[in-house]
Amino acid sequence: MKSSKTFLGHIREVLSSIRSRVFVISLLLGLCPCIILQYGILSSYEKRAVEVKAQEVQLQLRALANHLITADFLGTPGSKVIRTELNEFSSLYNGRLLVVDSSLQVISDTYSIATGKTAISEDIVYCLKNGTSMSPYTYDPEADYITLVTPIVETASLETGDMTGIRESEPPSPQGVLKASVSTKTIETTLDMLSRTALLFEMVIAVSIFLLALFFAYYLVSPLERLSKSIAAVKAGYTTNLVSAPEYLETRHIADAFNEVLARMNQLDASRQEFVSNVSHELKTPMTSAKVLADSLLMQEHVEEAVYREFLQDIDNEIDRENKIISELLTLVRMDNKETQLNVQPVNINDMLEMILKRVRPQARERDIELLLVSERKIVAEVDETRMTMALTNLIENAVKYNKEHGKVRVTTDADHQSFTIEIMDTGVGIPPESVNRVFERFYRVDKSRSREMGGTGLGLSISKSVVLQHHGSISVESKEGEGTTFYVICPLSYIPEPVEMVPPRSERKK
Ligand code: ADP
Repeated sequence: MKSSKTFLGHIREVLSSIRSRVFVISLLLGLCPCIILQYGILSSYEKRAVEVKAQEVQLQLRALANHLITADFLGTPGSKVIRTELNEFSSLYNGRLLVVDSSLQVISDTYSIATGKTAISEDIVYCLKNGTSMSPYTYDPEADYITLVTPIVETASLETGDMTGIRESEPPSPQGVLKASVSTKTIETTLDMLSRTALLFEMVIAVSIFLLALFFAYYLVSPLERLSKSIAAVKAGYTTNLVSAPEYLETRHIADAFNEVLARMNQLDASRQEFVSNVSHELKTPMTSAKVLADSLLMQEHVEEAVYREFLQDIDNEIDRENKIISELLTLVRMDNKETQLNVQPVNINDMLEMILKRVRPQARERDIELLLVSERKIVAEVDETRMTMALTNLIENAVKYNKEHGKVRVTTDADHQSFTIEIMDTGVGIPPESVNRVFERFYRVDKSRSREMGGTGLGLSISKSVVLQHHGSISVESKEGEGTTFYVICPLSYIPEPVEMVPPRSERKK
C-alpha cells in the first residue's frame, strides 16, 4: 500500500514537472495535426471519389434511359440488345440494375430476383411522381455501395446533365425509372491502402516528434534545472557562489533576484557576526577590568581601607558601565522589534527640547559650554515623547561630550506644513570624513578611548537613528574635523503608519 502510494506520488511529481509538460505539449502539438490531416485527407478523398463515381454512373444511366426509350423497352421488354446492355452495365459497375415502369412493375432486374414484382421503394415512387430523383445519390459506406435513380423520359437529352436531376423546362412525366446499386469496393480498397501508407508515415513522424519532444523537454528546461542546482548548492552552504542562468530573460531575472537576496543575506550575516563580536567584546571589557581590579585586591594582603574603597569604586563603575551597555542593547532590540508600537501623541517639541537642555545644562556648565535653543516657531508634532526625548538627548549630549572647553551648542527648530526640523550644531572636535558615514553604526566610535572616558557605549547614535526612522523621519550629519558637527533630524508633523518621502536635509540638498 505504502509503496503504491509512493509510486503514485512519484508519478504525480514527474507529471507536475515543467520538463514532462513540455514533452507532452510538444508531442501533442506535433502529433495532433498529423492525425487530423490524415483523417481530413482520407475522408475528403472518400467523399470526392464517391462523388466522381456517382457522376459517372449517373451519365451512364441517362444514356441507358435514352436507349430504353428509343428501343421502347418499357412497351416491349424483350429487346436482347438492351438486356445485354443492362447486364454489361451491371457487371461493369459490379452492381444491380432495375428497370421499373410507370405502374411500379419491375420490367428487368439484372439479379433476376425482382422481375415482375412491384417496386415500392420511396426513391422510385418519388422519381416517378416528380420526374427527378430525391437526391443525386445515396451512399452506404458500411455496405460499400451507391444507389442512384434516374427517370426514363422521352426528353432525357434535354436535361441539364448535372447531378441534381433538375431540368431546365417542365418535363413530361416519366415512363419508368432506372435504379442502380453500384459497388464502391474499389474506393474502399484505395482508402485502405492510403490509410496504411498514412499510418506508416504517421509512425515515422511520431518517432521523429517523440525524439524532438524529448530534445525540447531537455533543452528548454535545462537552464531551469541548472538554476535550481545552483540554488541548491547555495542552500548547501556555498553562500558566496553567485547563481547564473543567462539563457532566458525569466531565468536571468530569477538569478538576479536570488543573487540580490543572497548578497543581502551575506551582508546581514556579516553584520550579525560583527554585532555579536562587538557585543561580546563590549560586554567583556568592563568584566575584565572588574576582574583585574578584584584580583589585584585579593593578591595583596593587609590592604588599607582607602585602597579597598578606591578599587571597589572602580569595580562599581565597571558594573555601571556593563549595565549601561546591556540596557542600551535592550533598548535597541526593542526598537528593532517591529511589533513594539509607538506611543504617539501630540507633543510640544519646543517644550520637549527645553526640558532636554535643562537636563544637559549641568554637564555643559562643567566645561563652560554655551547651550542655546533657537525656536523659529511653536511646533506640535505627533511623536512618541519618551523615545524622541531619548533620541534628541543622545544628540545634544554628544554635542556637549565631543565639544571643546568654552565651546558652543546651538539647537535650532523649524517646521513647514508637513514636517519639523531640528538642527544640533556644535563647535566641537568634529568627525573625520572617513567616519562621518559610520557614526550611526552600532558600537562605532571615532575615538574609542575618548568615548569610553566619557562613558560612551557607541550605541547612542544607533538608538537615535532607530527612533527617527520609526517616526518615518530622516537623520543626517555634516562635520568638519576640528571645527564642529551638525546633526539634522527631520520628522513628519503627523505620524503616518506608512513612510513618506521626506524633504532631504539642508546638508544633502546642498550636494
Ligand atoms: P558614544 O556612546 O561613543 O557617544 P554614539 O553612538 O553616540 O556613541 O556616537 C558614536 C561616535 O560618533 C562617537 O563615539 C563619536 O566618536 C562620534 N560622535 C557622535 N556625536 C558627535 C559629535 N557631536 N561630535 C563629534 N563626534 C561625535
